[in-house]
Amino acid sequence: MTKIHFTSLILLVFSRLFCSLLDAGLKEAGNKQPAGSSSSPANIIVIFADDLGYGDLGCYGSPVIRTPHLDQLAAEGLRFTDFYSAAEVCSPSRAALLTGRYPIRSGMCGSRRVLFPNSRGGLPAAELTIPEVLKSSGYTTAHIGKWHLGIHEGSRPLDQGFDFSFGLPYSNDMDGRADLPKGATGSPNPPSDGWNVPLIRNGEVIEQPAVQETLTRRYTDEALKFIHENQQRPFFMYLAHTFPHVPLFASEEFRGRSRAGIYGDTVEELDWSVGRILDVLRELKLDQKTFVFFSSDNGPWLIMGQQGGSAGPLRDGKGSTWEGGMRVPGIAWMPGSIAPGVTSVPASTLDLFPTTVALSQSTLPEELVIDGTDLSPLLFQESNLPARPYFYYRGDQLFACRLGEWKAHFSTQTGYGQPKPEVHDVPMLFHLGRDVSEKRSVAGDHPEVIEEIRRVVEKHQMNVTRGTPQFE
Ligand code: MG
Repeated sequence: MTKIHFTSLILLVFSRLFCSLLDAGLKEAGNKQPAGSSSSPANIIVIFADDLGYGDLGCYGSPVIRTPHLDQLAAEGLRFTDFYSAAEVCSPSRAALLTGRYPIRSGMCGSRRVLFPNSRGGLPAAELTIPEVLKSSGYTTAHIGKWHLGIHEGSRPLDQGFDFSFGLPYSNDMDGRADLPKGATGSPNPPSDGWNVPLIRNGEVIEQPAVQETLTRRYTDEALKFIHENQQRPFFMYLAHTFPHVPLFASEEFRGRSRAGIYGDTVEELDWSVGRILDVLRELKLDQKTFVFFSSDNGPWLIMGQQGGSAGPLRDGKGSTWEGGMRVPGIAWMPGSIAPGVTSVPASTLDLFPTTVALSQSTLPEELVIDGTDLSPLLFQESNLPARPYFYYRGDQLFACRLGEWKAHFSTQTGYGQPKPEVHDVPMLFHLGRDVSEKRSVAGDHPEVIEEIRRVVEKHQMNVTRGTPQFE
């Protein structure tokens, strides 16, 4: 009897000891701070694809497109299952990313949907951008790739806080040749001189039309050069790829290589580019002090058929406020600071502004209104974030709102091809945890949820001051 008691006691002591050791270990892991925070602040790289769908990467379930480097980024970092672009199309989405504000506040949205080469507006000079904040904290900043936030003074990359800029001023399907055959943009084999889009370095046109087959490779070369040149000081790089936006071009090395046609080829080349960047960060021993975030500006352009991507299980695509239009891949990586994992905590590109501000140890003007939340607790301490609503705008109209797992649609409209929205007097209601494809509205069963969401939307709208429209 005594012997049994003694054995139990020993076991109990050891198990307590083991538990407290484990607990201490977890706490230590939980208290992790980004590696850059003790000495110089972390480098920050945002890689932004164009029109890449939720279902287009291996790590998000694509059965046909091979993305080993992005899959590795996800395996070593934190992959978001519920990550959103802040708009359903390009220009508003990019404005939101760089300012942390819903585009309605900056006026970077409207019925024309995006900026065109003949638009007179652009991202207002008064908007505070990530590179502007980071520059004041001693960062060197680079924009590489597509801009699409304005071509006039005050809105261009060098006017908006970037020290260096290399890329296209707008989408690669703009300024098309007058004699372009119908459907050329979405063709699997588009004419390489069909669009007169210029390639610009630091404000100077260096090539027109840009040789689109070379863009991913040249963006990557510029990115690697920038990292090399700035390895001794904190840097911010916004690498906004041109692809897989149509018309699709891949370099010779990637053309015809994927199972998913030219669309897959461009995504696989983009994946190669990510791999090159990670390699160089490791070579230069910058990997542990560089925060990398990968995402896409909006969902896949489904009306492009085989040349449009896939939203996986999500409904609709680019241009719509159904999940497929705005839920996109989102991967955060910083080895040693971000523990590998998958999170279903909703987050969006709006959060990158306050997150990078925190990482760079910068401060913001008190009067600045932003819509994002600093993701640091989730990224570095593996703790949750306070629940917050997410608002889905189409142009300057609020169409839907997500609160927890619930999403209410006040208006619905397919991305392209449905001329007018369908307005729902009783909103459609979906539980995204149980119905991610938004197939069965359960509005009738949950009037109390709809009421709660209505209150949240009203409160949000009362606090929104509309900016001067920039697209008309
Ligand atoms: Mg886009």
